[in-house]
Amino acid sequence: MKVVVCVKQVPDTNEVKIDPVKGTLIREGVPSIMNPDDKNALEEALRLKDEYGAYVTVITMGPPQAEKVLREALAMGADEAILLTDKAFAGADTWATSLTLAKAIEKIGYDLILAGRQAIDGDTAQVGPEIAEHLDIPQVTYVEKVELEGNTLRVKRALEDGYEIIKINMPCLLTCIKELNTPRYMNVYDIFTCYKKEIKVLTSEDLGLNKEDIGLLGSPTKVRKTFTKEPKGKGEIINMPPCEAAKFAVEKLKEKHYI
Ligand SMILES: Cc1cc2nc3c(=O)[nH]c(=O)nc-3n(C[C@H](O)[C@H](O)[C@H](O)COP(=O)(O)OP(=O)(O)OC[C@H]3O[C@@H](n4cnc5c(N)ncnc54)[C@H](O)[C@@H]3O)c2cc1C
Repeated sequence: MKVVVCVKQVPDTNEVKIDPVKGTLIREGVPSIMNPDDKNALEEALRLKDEYGAYVTVITMGPPQAEKVLREALAMGADEAILLTDKAFAGADTWATSLTLAKAIEKIGYDLILAGRQAIDGDTAQVGPEIAEHLDIPQVTYVEKVELEGNTLRVKRALEDGYEIIKINMPCLLTCIKELNTPRYMNVYDIFTCYKKEIKVLTSEDLGLNKEDIGLLGSPTKVRKTFTKEPKGKGEIINMPPCEAAKFAVEKLKEKHYI
């Protein structure tokens, strides 16, 4: 069984602060990490390796320094790592990103593709489902439990007010959420050996992709402007008898369309 895990290197957005004077993001010193949902996806692949002998390949598209997350994945126990890096990939929106990843995954071969539900920087949750569409395979998103039954998977999909149990044939793609498992730590032996392992590097040429279909050129969407959200103004203290204060607060919330 061949499992491919999509991992993205992201800035640790918990560490990103807003400069109170300039109102801009402070990016200096913000560490790059493996996207949290992707760690759950990787853990699930490693569980399938432990229990059923799955072969686990991790793949990322990013600049050369994205190699760091692949080394981390190898140190957690992945068998193989692939870095898609090329200037032509830069500026990709989710369509171009997913097309590039799908082409590479097709080339590697797979039974199961695992991705995170969402990356904490782009936050779109589109790349996983788009990869499945490019490859024309079935998908389940928001997966919180996976059971292997022959060539079929029985997965539990989280909904806002409950869950669904879905049976899905492989090959397929699942997007994973944090409730799925607790990712393991890297082990010391693998931390040492992961630096000796080869990381395969693939470019747009290796994937046979046209420059017009990838990166900024292949992106149907463009970011025209980015800005930091205005900080909230000072709070208002309601100084009234409790019943009146409650009515006043409800009116205010309605006015702002919170309720
Ligand atoms: C309109 C628009 C324009 C953009 N323009 C630019 C731009 O000009 N320059 C730029 O740098 N970025 C740009 N981005 C961001 C870029 O598209 C996203 O970082 C990338 O497409 C992934 O989307 P996401 O972060 O929302 O991932 P999500 O869809 O939230 O990620 C879901 C899962 O997909 C997998 N995944 C996502 N990205 C990767 C990856 N690179 N490698 C491996 N697995 C991955 C992971 O498993 C992840 O958990 C743009 C985004 C949008 C929406």
